[in-house]
Amino acid sequence: MLFSPTHPIAYGRQHITEADVQAVVETLHSDYLTQGPKVGEFEEKFAAYIGVKYAVAVSNGTAALHLCALALGVQPGQRVITTPITFAASANCVRYCGGEVYFADIDPNTALIDLKAVRQLLESHPKGHFHGLIPVDFAGLPVNLEEARKLADEFGLWIIEDACHAPGGFFTDSQGQEQRCGNGQFADLAIFSFHPVKHIATGEGGMITTNREDLYQELLKLRTHGITKDPAQMHRNEGGWYMEMQELGYNYRMPDMLCALGISQLNRAEEGLARRRTLAARYDAAFAGLASIRPLAGAPGHAYHLYVIQVENRKGLYDALRAKNIYAQVHYIPVHTMPYYQGLGWQPGDFPLAEQYYAHCLSIPLFPSLTDAEQEYVIACIKEFCHA
Ligand SMILES: *Cc1c(COP(=O)(O)O)cnc(C)c1O
Repeated sequence: MLFSPTHPIAYGRQHITEADVQAVVETLHSDYLTQGPKVGEFEEKFAAYIGVKYAVAVSNGTAALHLCALALGVQPGQRVITTPITFAASANCVRYCGGEVYFADIDPNTALIDLKAVRQLLESHPKGHFHGLIPVDFAGLPVNLEEARKLADEFGLWIIEDACHAPGGFFTDSQGQEQRCGNGQFADLAIFSFHPVKHIATGEGGMITTNREDLYQELLKLRTHGITKDPAQMHRNEGGWYMEMQELGYNYRMPDMLCALGISQLNRAEEGLARRRTLAARYDAAFAGLASIRPLAGAPGHAYHLYVIQVENRKGLYDALRAKNIYAQVHYIPVHTMPYYQGLGWQPGDFPLAEQYYAHCLSIPLFPSLTDAEQEYVIACIKEFCHA
């Protein structure tokens, strides 16, 4: 093998350019480190990119989920359904508000929440039993939210789309229209993360998108201590200094420095997405003749946050790649099997398709700055393992 990496090739990583660095440095020389003009600019540009009315920048994706759950009124006694194959935060946001998390099993071809399983769960309880649904565009494959919305309307649920994996992704609706992840056409709220492995990387950062003005106004308040400075919303006005804390909110703000980085990254979002799709297509072609490697299903609107393969001897492949300086990862350990959720009564065996998927899945390197030579090396190492 000609190529040999001098540093580990991870499953994902950020791509920082000189323009990104300059954008941050400029804000450091400006009057604002936080809550200056970059926040609103990032929100506007992000909303335009996604094709949604409102965007609210927050400190990270988990804070975004928490604020969404609060804005939708999650409280003790409420029940919310999500997928076991996601990052724990998709479920945890319900717990922050005292609500109860339920899970529905996945479709094994996509690893997305199976809406048929959601329907079964809903139909096995009286109407009004469940309050919300949190579907996840896992790996970058968009959930069919038109279908999810029909189900939600039938059973009186709200929807938070966890679109952390899918900025720029889309599905095609029954009218033949492309519906971008997070565009608020079907979900009440959607959330994104700007963690370093995500499409847009700011270190920490997140975004909530919605077309609902009521929720937008509520999120603005909750993001900053429950305080409003808008005279139109205040009970009284005692002068120029006056502001009102109207409910219990948080400091979940995203600083100007990071919004500047986000704007700079957003400028390259389509470029990064195209590169992810090119790399994914090359993996597809490379594994097409390998019976022992089964990639998850693709789709035209797939945003390819992750490239997931399924392999019989997953631990063997993980260890073999690790020995070759390739740091693959497993997404995800099913949430219901985590000790915390087992403590709430969930058990291994509850969602067999998710557990079966977990036993064999592996996310191999996929990020825009992965070079052709690095990808060929990854493919060669996987083939070597399969033929050994
Ligand atoms: C990254 C991620 C989150 C949480 O985002 P943070 O910014 O790390 O808090 C939530 N859900 C999913 C599916 C994610 O991938």
